[in-house]
Amino acid sequence: MTKSNFDLAIVGLGPRGHYALERFVQELSRADTVKAVRILLVEETEQLGNGPVWDLSQPDSNWSNVNDRILELPARPEINLGTALIKSFPSYLDWAVTNPAARSKDNSDHYPPRNVVGTYLHERFATLLHPLVEHGIAKLVQERAVAAALTENGASVTTRSGVKFFADQVLLTVGHQPTQQDPQIEGWQAEIEAKDELCLFDEPYPVGPIVDAAKTSTETAVAVRGYGLATIDVVRAIAVAYGSFSLRDEQSRELKFAPAEQVVPTIIPFSLDGLPMGPKPVNEQLDRQFAPSEEAVERLGRELSDPGLQARATGEAFLLDAITPIIGSVFRGLENRRDDAPSDIDALHQLVRAWIEDPAQGHKCCLDTDQPPIDLLKNLVQMANGSAPVSLDYCIGQVWRHCHPTIYSSLSHSALSDHILAEIILTDESMKRYAFGPPIESLQQLLALCEAGMLDLEYLADPDINVADHGWLLTSGENHATAQIMVNAVLDAPKIADVRSPLIEGLLEDGLVAPVHDELGVATTADGYVISQNDSVLRIAVLGRLAKGTIIGVDAILECFGERPRTWASSAAKRAVVKSVETQ
Ligand SMILES: Cc1cc2nc3c(=O)[nH]c(=O)nc-3n(C[C@H](O)[C@H](O)[C@H](O)COP(=O)(O)OP(=O)(O)OC[C@H]3O[C@@H](n4cnc5c(N)ncnc54)[C@H](O)[C@@H]3O)c2cc1C
Repeated sequence: MTKSNFDLAIVGLGPRGHYALERFVQELSRADTVKAVRILLVEETEQLGNGPVWDLSQPDSNWSNVNDRILELPARPEINLGTALIKSFPSYLDWAVTNPAARSKDNSDHYPPRNVVGTYLHERFATLLHPLVEHGIAKLVQERAVAAALTENGASVTTRSGVKFFADQVLLTVGHQPTQQDPQIEGWQAEIEAKDELCLFDEPYPVGPIVDAAKTSTETAVAVRGYGLATIDVVRAIAVAYGSFSLRDEQSRELKFAPAEQVVPTIIPFSLDGLPMGPKPVNEQLDRQFAPSEEAVERLGRELSDPGLQARATGEAFLLDAITPIIGSVFRGLENRRDDAPSDIDALHQLVRAWIEDPAQGHKCCLDTDQPPIDLLKNLVQMANGSAPVSLDYCIGQVWRHCHPTIYSSLSHSALSDHILAEIILTDESMKRYAFGPPIESLQQLLALCEAGMLDLEYLADPDINVADHGWLLTSGENHATAQIMVNAVLDAPKIADVRSPLIEGLLEDGLVAPVHDELGVATTADGYVISQNDSVLRIAVLGRLAKGTIIGVDAILECFGERPRTWASSAAKRAVVKSVETQ
């Protein structure tokens, strides 16, 4: 019989593993029987408590898309485990007050660089980890976990060096995992093998090597596959290596880019639809106009979490029926909105639904996506800074964002069937262009770079691309451009079947985790334990991106410090305490 040396093993110490550990020890400290627990912590990077997304060493040009006004990461209370005392730690907002880099200098919302949020998470984690390690409660192993398996009376975790650790239960908080290479990238990799002067980056981070590759004395063009947040980070990193932005106008946040060098690279982004992310409103006052009333949000929560309605649902109409009137009401209440929307309420609601179901279908009160890309960017910026009437689609995206927490908490672990959940998750993903939008300043930077001739938007929408002798030949209509550098800035969807990591592939092969739906992640119980082929064995839990199927909306930093880790921690601590009583 294998002996469990640890009560719990946590694999992955990004924000979610960090908070899960914190809550676990907090729950233990509250238990009547405080026992001597042993926790194994496995993390492959140096980014303890923050993970690579919030890497401390990344440049300031990688921004968070959550502003510090709403970055409510709650304070940690003092935790007394009898032997070890873990000091309290302030909330992000209180911590940021003493950190100038995290503070806004004017009335517009401030989006901190990701390294600032990372510093907060890292410092907080250090003050949790040290007392636990000092008192022999936790053991840290800085290695990649390559396998997790069930054992006779617990579970095991094997690390890359081949060491096998045994624990009563395992929590996997491994976040974004490597996935199968995209066929287009794979094709390009093969085609450029003998072409030394061409450079392909199959992922956008770290941005440093991309900036270095672009830094040549000759004219260089950098094509970027994707037109989302990662592309903006790449564009910004290259731009600030070649010049600087200055504010032209306080109110509109309009920027000017001044190159500091004679020769600057040209950056050519492209994507399938060529549509930009919609920026968030510039400040709290403008943002508040998109927030539904408390009563409307409560009603939405009631309807969405009604088990009877969930069981009778036949499609995503279940969600759309509930949210459409809320969006309609917010739109009608806007002071500065497009006046070409239907005045008839039913017709307006129909239009809202139609747009959510198919954003490609246009209407005159929605943004004209056929207009030149630069005008589209300007239009979005004007709506976000309050200088242009709000279009219906922009309003839908902002209201959707305000409803996110309610949608997520009401629909996670619902009675909805897998295919309806899959439909809803896909719709939610399609709303990300607006709901997870960047700060207005990011779009102003794109506009300033266009004006300075450094950003070329001619090839945005699905250009033809061929690898020629001197680079990637991009063709759009009559226009041609050649890029010597290609960056893939499209981040993979959380489709578990595409994950290529020994840890997850092994769990799938062993039938210890099963995807809830072809397109989605692992099925879990409400407290995070994976529902394996053998339903009675609940010893491995998964929180985060890979558990997307049953827990929707797991990808944002605020969710890492949310209800899901708390629910898991409560169950996990109860199990640990029961086990300790049993073995006493
Ligand atoms: C490029 C990018 C930018 C983002 N920007 C934002 C943003 O601005 N705002 C926002 O709210 N969200 C953002 N996100 C979403 C992000 O996923 C969450 O904010 C958050 O980082 C998720 O935390 P996590 O702990 O679940 O996963 P991660 O942050 O991915 O952490 C997982 C941890 O597990 C470790 N790990 C993985 N596999 C193993 C293994 N086999 N063995 C040992 N350790 C392992 C990793 O090293 C990492 O430390 C971004 C995501 C990406 C990919």
